[in-house]
Amino acid sequence: MAHRLETVPLMSPGPGTERFLTVHRFGQIGSRPKLYFHAALHADELPGTLILNRMLGWLRDADVAGEIQGEIVVVPYANPVGIANRIMGYHLGRYDLDGDGNFNRWYPDLARKVGDRIGNALGNDEAHNTAVIRQASVEAVEEWVAYGEANTLRKALMALSIDCDFVFDLHCHGEAIQYVYFPENHWERYGDLAAELVCRTVLLFPTDSGSNFDIAPTTIWHQLRKRFPDRAIAEPPFTTTLELRGQNDVGDDLAAADARGLWRFMQRHGIVAGDPGDPPDLLCVATPLSGSDNLVAPCAGVLSYRFHPGDHVQAGDVVADIVDPAELDFEAARTPVKSRASGVLYGRAMSRLVRPGQSFAVISGHEELPPNDLPVIDY
Ligand SMILES: [Zn+2]
Repeated sequence: MAHRLETVPLMSPGPGTERFLTVHRFGQIGSRPKLYFHAALHADELPGTLILNRMLGWLRDADVAGEIQGEIVVVPYANPVGIANRIMGYHLGRYDLDGDGNFNRWYPDLARKVGDRIGNALGNDEAHNTAVIRQASVEAVEEWVAYGEANTLRKALMALSIDCDFVFDLHCHGEAIQYVYFPENHWERYGDLAAELVCRTVLLFPTDSGSNFDIAPTTIWHQLRKRFPDRAIAEPPFTTTLELRGQNDVGDDLAAADARGLWRFMQRHGIVAGDPGDPPDLLCVATPLSGSDNLVAPCAGVLSYRFHPGDHVQAGDVVADIVDPAELDFEAARTPVKSRASGVLYGRAMSRLVRPGQSFAVISGHEELPPNDLPVIDY
């Protein structure tokens, strides 16, 4: 099947202004498995754009050779609204400037709507149920009345991905090592992805609730399985958020290595032809997201880190000092912030200026932690 290029227009935010998504489709449209890749949903997180760009030519060649099993959808930049958020030389892209929040939150939970519609149509035939659930999910997205430009973007991205078998959401951190948010129910089967991407932190998490983009397709299946326990309903699709190092770790050299890792993953799971060989050894032990400590600034000031991304930290270690530059006494000027977790410092904020309540560093840990004492502002 020949490669197909589509343009998906978004709501015009004003006369004379138009934005659109560019969508590449490879393989046999409508066949299975269906994979979806997009990058830069947080529009200031660019590493994934080069990874997907690196893969486009490979996918075209594999498609021409008939070496793709199923359908592969690629959206190299998922957020043209955020790409335009350039203010006085600074590019923002995490939040909608028109007030519609974080671009990776507020994807509607469609599980109840789907369940109300198809509950009676579900039986003991899992393949039949899968087809019914996918179709109802697509229809539920179509029926969502999405007001505002950011919501029409959310709706367009959901329409492309809600019925997929695999969803890859490519992000990055401010400054970070390579890490991944991995659906805990798929770890055994697909954990080689983290090894292929040379991840040094794997955060296992449940995919049955939340409003992130990568959760939207999975909550439907989880909740239908709970609501109709006597019907044959398949496992939720495999959806993951890849955190591809830091915002400045953008370049063709890193992108090529990561693209090759994704390619070998697809080969190993029968999506593209070729022998990937054995996966490399995983460089870390998977840890629960609930064991990750999110360090929060108790006061305003200038950050002075004591550890770098990738460093091992013990619980009780001071990870950073928040400095009041005007305080005369050197020691008194510094407010130390300690880690509650023992593990790897896998990400930290790029800006060195913090305000009270701001999250600025994350450390993976093995043990579940109680909620943070301070309210977390997730900038
Ligand atoms: Zn992000």
